[in-house]
Amino acid sequence: MKKTLLALASVAALATQTAFAAYPEKPITIVVPFAAGGPTDKVARDFAEAVRKPLGNATVVVENVGGAGGTLGAGKVAKASPDGYTLLLFHIGMATTPTMYRKLNYKVLEDFEFLGLINDVPMTLLGRKNLPANTYPELQKWLQDNKGKINLANAGQGSASHLCGLMFQNAVQIDMTTVPYKGTAPAMNDLLGGQVDIMCDQTTNTTGQIAAGSVKAYAVSTTKRVNTPVLAKLPTLDELGHKGFNVSIFHGLYAPKGTPADVLAKVNAALKEALKDPEFVKRQEGLGAVVVTDGRVNPAEHKKFVASEIDKWGAVIKAAGQYAD
Ligand code: ASP
Repeated sequence: MKKTLLALASVAALATQTAFAAYPEKPITIVVPFAAGGPTDKVARDFAEAVRKPLGNATVVVENVGGAGGTLGAGKVAKASPDGYTLLLFHIGMATTPTMYRKLNYKVLEDFEFLGLINDVPMTLLGRKNLPANTYPELQKWLQDNKGKINLANAGQGSASHLCGLMFQNAVQIDMTTVPYKGTAPAMNDLLGGQVDIMCDQTTNTTGQIAAGSVKAYAVSTTKRVNTPVLAKLPTLDELGHKGFNVSIFHGLYAPKGTPADVLAKVNAALKEALKDPEFVKRQEGLGAVVVTDGRVNPAEHKKFVASEIDKWGAVIKAAGQYAD
């Protein structure tokens, strides 16, 4: 009886292996949990183009599922069929949402397979073009003079812009009215239109606007300046007196828990190839992003890193008492 069961189990395992041997046989969808045209979307679209080649020129499409700081899209992938055809590209929100949301319909460390990190991206502190402050000291004065009237755009609770904005409000000790969007693409539109005053956003979305002079840029969020022609002139918030201010946004790739091991291995191998693609690297570097070359491209280290980021940002969020239902 025992032998029969064992034999059946190995036949089933073999059938699963054979079923996925030809992966991918149909289009792969990468869910981006924010609106199209924003920074996460831009990383995903460049990555989709780079990763399709090592996946045998597969079709890789990006689907935008924005809302609730990225948690709607992440929740959708957590419940998707674990067959390798639905993946998630998400950022630091994987580390902030577990503490930020009292009710979350996924468990980051239990409901996902980790496929490797893609890049680290600094953020920039921006103001609308007609804001009277041209320098950071002038911005500080303007913030003081306009207490109670300042609008700060973000991509919802748990998003990168929310985290950076929260830390910025703590740093300057001024409460602002936050205006949430489904991503920083629509938030940027409103900043361009002057409907909101300030916003933190990844350089992958802001470099073009800063270069065009359509927004005011005051600082970068990392402790090191960003070495691109457009961004190098921007001081860090740390050097401007907010010692230790350091927010860097990682982007990683995830699959629903239970995706077959051979599929995960194929996607991870393709991810590593994509990160070496000269076109991809050049585009990311031009936008101030740093493509990951360390051990975090491996699933186990990726998961360990996210677990440590959950602890790190969890403490910050708890100290700020920032929770969403
Ligand atoms: N940059 C956004 C954030 O604040 C997300 C996006 O639109 O990509 O998390």
